Amino acid sequence: MQGVGFRPFVHALASRLGLSGFVQNRTGTVWIEVEGETLALDRFLEELVGHPPPASKLERWATHPLDIVGDRKFTIRPSEPSDGLATIAPDAAICDACRSELLDPEDRRFRHAFVTCTDCGPRMTIVTGAPYDRARTTMARFDMCADCRAEYADVESRRFHAQPIACPACGPRLSCSIEEIAAAIRAGTIAAIKGVGGYHLACLATDERAVRELRRRKQRDDKPFAIMVRDPSMFDLGNEERSLLTSSAAPIVLVDRARMPRGPEIAASVAPGCTCIGVMLPYTPLHVLLMNEIDAPIVLTSGNRSDEPIAFDDDDARARLGDIADVFLTHDRAIVTRADDSVARVIAGAPTFIRRSRGYAPAPVSLPRPLAEPLLAVGAHDKSVFAIGDGARAYLSPHIGDLGHASAARAFRETIDRFEQALGARPSAIVCDLHPDYESTIYAEERAARDGVPLLRVQHHRAHFAACLADAGHEGPAIGVCFDGAGLGDDGTIWGGEIFVGDATRSVRAAHLMRVRLPGGDAASRDGRRMAISYTIEAGVELDDADPAIAAMVRSGVRSPYTSSAGRLFDAVASLLGVRDRARFDGQAACELEALAATSDDDGVYGFEVHVKRSPWLIDVRPMIRTICGERTAKNDAARRFHRTLAAAIVETCAMLRAEHGVPHVALSGGVFQNAILTADVVDLLRSRDLIALRHRRVPPNDGGIAYGQLASIAGRI
Ligand code: ZN
Ligand code: ZN
Ligand code: FE
Repeated sequence: MQGVGFRPFVHALASRLGLSGFVQNRTGTVWIEVEGETLALDRFLEELVGHPPPASKLERWATHPLDIVGDRKFTIRPSEPSDGLATIAPDAAICDACRSELLDPEDRRFRHAFVTCTDCGPRMTIVTGAPYDRARTTMARFDMCADCRAEYADVESRRFHAQPIACPACGPRLSCSIEEIAAAIRAGTIAAIKGVGGYHLACLATDERAVRELRRRKQRDDKPFAIMVRDPSMFDLGNEERSLLTSSAAPIVLVDRARMPRGPEIAASVAPGCTCIGVMLPYTPLHVLLMNEIDAPIVLTSGNRSDEPIAFDDDDARARLGDIADVFLTHDRAIVTRADDSVARVIAGAPTFIRRSRGYAPAPVSLPRPLAEPLLAVGAHDKSVFAIGDGARAYLSPHIGDLGHASAARAFRETIDRFEQALGARPSAIVCDLHPDYESTIYAEERAARDGVPLLRVQHHRAHFAACLADAGHEGPAIGVCFDGAGLGDDGTIWGGEIFVGDATRSVRAAHLMRVRLPGGDAASRDGRRMAISYTIEAGVELDDADPAIAAMVRSGVRSPYTSSAGRLFDAVASLLGVRDRARFDGQAACELEALAATSDDDGVYGFEVHVKRSPWLIDVRPMIRTICGERTAKNDAARRFHRTLAAAIVETCAMLRAEHGVPHVALSGGVFQNAILTADVVDLLRSRDLIALRHRRVPPNDGGIAYGQLASIAGRI
């Protein structure tokens, strides 16, 4: 990728070792020719592979012997015509060198909110076209001053060909002073702040009144907010968490509340009912200056109302955020492509994406098998992400959001256009979900008809399975546990507790969670009470206070399709335990059950059965439902037991499938595997049964990984 300081690094390294030759970008690869003593050449390769620049990543490398040329110098040759998106790097957090300049009163970029170098700064979000150079970024309108121009041209400089280079004399300007905004936030107001991939809304995270007011104005009831802190020492972080937080991608990291024993009290309404709190560190010079001034944790949440896409255009932000924010901190460097903050969580010891967006997109994720032709995979509906597959690379879009919103659907179409343009790829086929009402499916059908290209459909949970296999780099057969909220199954019912046997291309639904009625269809998806009634009727227990109308629907099946969804089981149990009857956002009940379970060290397991006389096998949790209804256990102990039971049922089924099919690998995918307690239980149990867990590493287990799975599924077929 360009703009990560790779060529200057190679130049410096070769020169230091007395090697001659050249370095050159060639369509998505870097070509280096070096000539010199064997020892120096070995050293060169060692350094190159072992310690490349922080924002760069070596995907693959190879060496070949060449004839001696007899050059004396090492040079950087101009790039060959490049292949667009392949050369556009993700946005990178401010590097240490730029940070020290920012805070050094002697430096000419002291307190300059736009300091960048080849190691850091905005990339994808400011790029207007390919190949990557200043004229095709939103920095084009700022004329470099003589000093900046000299650095830009100096191969020894950290800013050699740093396209967004700027300084106080020639760079972008803030709309008001950092001190003013900091004072306003400290005084309890709500600010809109322009970031890398869009606007944020900010307020003091320690001020309960301000946080509540932000919730009210943003029309966001309970969904957790992320916070930004000046330094992470108020947390007891694990190594993975620390390296995620301080990485050049600088995502939001979900940190267990138990790990924040020091520092100021965070307001309760920042993340009500959750085990974790989302934390990020200042990742732009603007954030560094602001946080030094405020010196207290702030809420920093997407600049939008409710679930709309994040605002990134200045006029649009003024219009949409005008009556949410009291003050604005903006500037004149435009954003072209929106990118929400990425979210990661360390789950059962492994860093896992909840959302892969700013700092990662559009860096490609490799596919285990190359595609014969470029493909567009449109993904699912919620947490929308699409992917363009080109050869063995999948270019995943930033997070687009819930396509149920008209503005998100628009953003989805616009971003596809921009990606295709930048990549210069016209897809030869489109891949979509089976669900006919997904906005992405509707687009895919239109698009395939318009372009006269084939439309391929991949069942939702098989896409989860394929995504996990490809993500874990596993080829060949495996067991696939795909547990989530909902997806349309082959049989027209709603799936969501599926266990497959097969591979990325072909799989059999070998087992699933028992089916229950979904009274009122979609209306039941956030209504745990309805699911509690449905499960108890199925289990043959009477709830004294069951709504008779709902009970009648369940019994008759009127407007009550079947579902095997694990997410709905979480909702039902949350309601039965008196934790929550109605979710205000997707996954809220599961989130609260997990938080409760985290406070218990109960080691009990409820009863369940696996029925193997039918095909697919059935995981019957009615014994558990009957016990939960009849017992008087503390809520947190019951929540803990529920997690253990579900894990035990999954692993028992996998062990039996292994005995039947001889397959020891178990892929874990679907939004349910964002639950750290369940995942840890499953991983531990799998290990105890000599089964091998395959986990997501580079794409989220939730629907943000579906587009990647759609590509992986097709890659094996054509
Ligand atoms: Zn830098
Ligand atoms: Zn300048
Ligand atoms: Fe899903």
